[in-house]
Amino acid sequence: MDTQKRLDYLLVRLRERGNRLTPQRVAIIRTIINNTNHPSAEQMHSEILETFPTTSLATVYKTIRLLKEIGEILELGFGDDSSRFDGRKPHPHPHMICTECGTIMDSELDGFETIIETMARQTGFSVKTHRFDIFGICSSCKK
Ligand SMILES: [Zn+2]
Ligand SMILES: [Zn+2]
Repeated sequence: MDTQKRLDYLLVRLRERGNRLTPQRVAIIRTIINNTNHPSAEQMHSEILETFPTTSLATVYKTIRLLKEIGEILELGFGDDSSRFDGRKPHPHPHMICTECGTIMDSELDGFETIIETMARQTGFSVKTHRFDIFGICSSCKK
């Protein structure tokens, strides 16, 4: 994925809505879309502190909320406060979640949408969204 292109696209969309884009907020968005590990808000926060040491966790949450409002970030909640986020692929897609280290991975899978469509057709169901989590042990934890 071209992260610079995605960043530019998001900044244009937010500007069009009249959202103020401070350098700090731009840096937070950049951190979100550069991170391939489905970070939590806390993880994004500690990453952003390296460049903007005064950033508060609340500011990170506010930026996440903005991206949610425009449908450009996917939140993976786990029934507690440990939501993880995908700002790279905002549309629902399958995730593989390591129960040892908490890593969340995307896999490039063709045909997943077709499976959903087939299921919807078979049941007469209108799909609004979907969530598919696979739990297990990642390759580095297996070593
Ligand atoms: Zn692992
Ligand atoms: Zn993902």
